[in-house]
Amino acid sequence: MQILSGLSLAEIEKITDELHASKFRARQIHNWIYLKSVKTIDEMTDLSVKFRDELKKIAKVTDIKIKVKQVSSDGTIKYLLEYPDGECVETVLMRFDNRANLTACVSSQVGCAVNCSFCATGKRGFIRNLSYKEIIEQVLTIQRDTGLKVTNVVFMGQGEPLLNLDNVLKAMEIFNENFQIGARRLTVSTSGIIPQINKLAELDMQSTLAISLHAPNHAIRSKLMKIEDKYDMKSLHAALKNYVEKTGRRITIEYLLIKDINDTTESAKELANYLHDLKCNVNLIPYNPTSDNDYQRPSNNSIMKFKYLLEHSGKKVTVRLERGSDIDAACGQLSGKAKQ
Ligand code: SAH
Ligand code: SF4
Repeated sequence: MQILSGLSLAEIEKITDELHASKFRARQIHNWIYLKSVKTIDEMTDLSVKFRDELKKIAKVTDIKIKVKQVSSDGTIKYLLEYPDGECVETVLMRFDNRANLTACVSSQVGCAVNCSFCATGKRGFIRNLSYKEIIEQVLTIQRDTGLKVTNVVFMGQGEPLLNLDNVLKAMEIFNENFQIGARRLTVSTSGIIPQINKLAELDMQSTLAISLHAPNHAIRSKLMKIEDKYDMKSLHAALKNYVEKTGRRITIEYLLIKDINDTTESAKELANYLHDLKCNVNLIPYNPTSDNDYQRPSNNSIMKFKYLLEHSGKKVTVRLERGSDIDAACGQLSGKAKQ
C-alpha cells in the first residue's frame, strides 16, 4: 500500500502512470494532499468514482494515527501522534490571536541524544530519527484535523534537528515547494552542533537558524548542557560569525531563563558581551517546569530586568510567550509519552 502523504509530484505521477491515468490526475491528487488536506481518497471529488476505487486498491492518504489531542485554554493544540512502528512524537499548533499565523512546532527525532538537564525530551534518550515523510506528516495531520493551513514551521519539538539533518533539509524543501511555505517562515533550532552549522552556512540556508545558547559562559553552559563539553561557546561563536557572513541572515539566540542560575545582572552583561559582534535577535524563554529537576522560573521582574539590560546593549529582545503550558505543550515539556 502506497502512502500518498509525503510523495512528490513525480512520485504521484508514477502511481497515475501505473493506473494508466493522465499526469493531470497526479496534479489533482497532489493538491488534495498538500493544499486541501483531505483525510481520504473519497474526498478527492474531482476524480471519477471509478478512478478513486482503483486508487484506493493501491494507496491511502496516511498511516499516522492521532493518539491523543489536547486543546489548551489559549488555543494551542498538542497532538500525540503514532507512527506505524508504534513510536510516538508530539506536534504542537500555536495560534497567535493578533496575527493570521499558524505555527506548527514539529519534532525531528523520537527522543534526543543531547540530554540537556532542563528538557523533558532529553530524559528519554535517543530512540530514532524521523524520516522526512514522518516530519511532514506532522504538519499534514494538523491541517487535516483542523482544516486550517499552516503558515510557519519551527523545528522546536522533540529531537535535535541538526543530528538528523538530511531528513530535516528534505522536509524543509517539501514545506517550501509543496506546502508553499516560504523559506523565511521556517526555523531550525539547535543546541549548537558546529559541523552541521558550518554545513548550513555552505548551503546558504535562507531559513532562520535559532541557537539554544542558554548561558553566558562556559562554566554555566556546561552545567546546563552537556553538549558544551563537545562544542564549546567559543568555537560556537566563530561558527555563528561564519554563518552570518556566508548567509547574510540574522540568527536567533534562544536563552532559557532559570532563577538564580543564569538570570543575574552579571549574566546579562556577560551575554551582551558574547553577542555584541553577532548579527542576532534574542528570544528569552522563561523556564517551564518539568518534573525531572529543581530549576525554577524567574519572577517577571527579573525577566524584565534581564530583557532591559540586553536591549540596552543594542539587541532586539523578545520574551517567548508561554503557549499551552496547561497541557504540557510548552517548550521543553514534550516527552512523547501518552499520559493516560
Ligand atoms: N533540540 C533543539 C530543538 C528543540 S527544543 C534545541 O535544543 O534547540 C526547543 C527549545 O525549547 C530549545 O531552545 C530548548 O532549549 C527549549 N527548552 C527545553 N527545555 C525547556 C524548558 N523546560 N523550558 C523552556 N524551554 C525549554
Ligand atoms: Fe535535545 Fe533540544 Fe531537549 Fe536539548 S533541549 S535535550 S537538544 S530536544
